[in-house]
Amino acid sequence: MRIAIVSDIHSNLHALDAVLQDADNRSVDLYHCLGDIVGYGAFPKECCDLIQEICDETVFGNHEHAVLYPKHSMSFNPDAKKAIDYTIEQLSESTIDWFHSLEPHLVLDDFTIAHGSLRNFDEYVSDATIARLSLEILQTDLLFVGHTHYPEGYQYDLDTKSARAMDLISEGEAVLEDGLRYLINVGSVGQPRDGDTRAAYGVYDTETSKIEIIRIKYNLKAAADAIIKAGLPPHLSKRLYAGR
Ligand code: ZN
Repeated sequence: MRIAIVSDIHSNLHALDAVLQDADNRSVDLYHCLGDIVGYGAFPKECCDLIQEICDETVFGNHEHAVLYPKHSMSFNPDAKKAIDYTIEQLSESTIDWFHSLEPHLVLDDFTIAHGSLRNFDEYVSDATIARLSLEILQTDLLFVGHTHYPEGYQYDLDTKSARAMDLISEGEAVLEDGLRYLINVGSVGQPRDGDTRAAYGVYDTETSKIEIIRIKYNLKAAADAIIKAGLPPHLSKRLYAGR
């Protein structure tokens, strides 16, 4: 089975459309979402509707959490906060109810999905030391996360109890080996921060144990213009062009 993993869409409908089209061309069987569907971009409602329609399983991210509990979003910068206010205006009650029903992480058949880390939906896994904290409590051999907007991977050796960064991958593939645990960050669909402006997502082939990180060009200008038109902070439009 081929499973597409999408994360950090951030209301970027143009990027999401391009990713879903690409995944469809690759005959993906199933879609899962790692959260942060909303925030930053102009199309929260449209993105939530699409994710709800297409994804089999979804976990919530810190931006969904901020929509539900705006007073808890103290760590958000002023631009991100403004986008949360805009998002709350745009979303229907049924979408808010859906957010309430989402879990911070889910153990699926032979892998686990989470937004930030297994320990905390708002934890940034940005090095092997932090990755290890999730990998040592993982109940499956594979964990998918998002949140940092950097596609990358870490592997954990059960014998030595040590974790290290993989040579993976801002765009590329890795075949998972038996006897190791893996944490794979699939990057961000709607606001990449690794200097590459293209949308990122992952495809996991359960038969070959292969994970591919795919980068897709999309109509970035249309997404950036829509942010301005919606009255959102111009910086949120500009950063799409920088991929930061
Ligand atoms: Zn995010």
